[in-house]
Amino acid sequence: MFINIIKNMFNLFKKKIVNCEKCFKPSEKYHKFDPSYRGQFRDAKKMKLCTLCLMKEYKDYLNKFRYNAIVVEPLNKYTAYQYYTFEDMIKNDWWPSDEIEKLRKIASKGNCVKCDEETSLTLCSPEIYHNEPADGKFYTDDIENLNMKHLCSDCLCDHIEKIIREKNIFFDEVFPIRTGDGLMTSFET
Ligand SMILES: [Zn+2]
Ligand SMILES: [Zn+2]
Repeated sequence: MFINIIKNMFNLFKKKIVNCEKCFKPSEKYHKFDPSYRGQFRDAKKMKLCTLCLMKEYKDYLNKFRYNAIVVEPLNKYTAYQYYTFEDMIKNDWWPSDEIEKLRKIASKGNCVKCDEETSLTLCSPEIYHNEPADGKFYTDDIENLNMKHLCSDCLCDHIEKIIREKNIFFDEVFPIRTGDGLMTSFET
């Protein structure tokens, strides 16, 4: 009896250690990377990953991507980081369609501001939605001040990884980029 109480107390305080499914490094915290998009794409596998492996996997998807995307810097108060095509956003009625049209115009091809490589990725500050991605409102009147810049997949991943580490973010759900112009954003799971 007494031993059981001690055991239960011990389990309560013992932190669960998980091994990254790519590099097998043990960690108390990890990201849940879901390229299957909750089972929509059956050939992709959901994985628990450390930050380094998450960014490697994420970059693989970016390197294959041929559309235009806006990637909003992640916020630490939201546990998901997900890609939605503009079509998905219109279909699901999350954002007003005229707001989505504004985004579609911003998403464009250009040259990486760091290394000059051609890219279809635009990095953007979360100020674009006043740090509240679920509100459905964009701040697009003064785009110059939103820190919008074209970055190639390498430079973009370096930047995102830096933010994740600085803010100590661990995502409950990451949807990588996929077919179609769209938006990578923090969101609720
Ligand atoms: Zn790893
Ligand atoms: Zn670059």
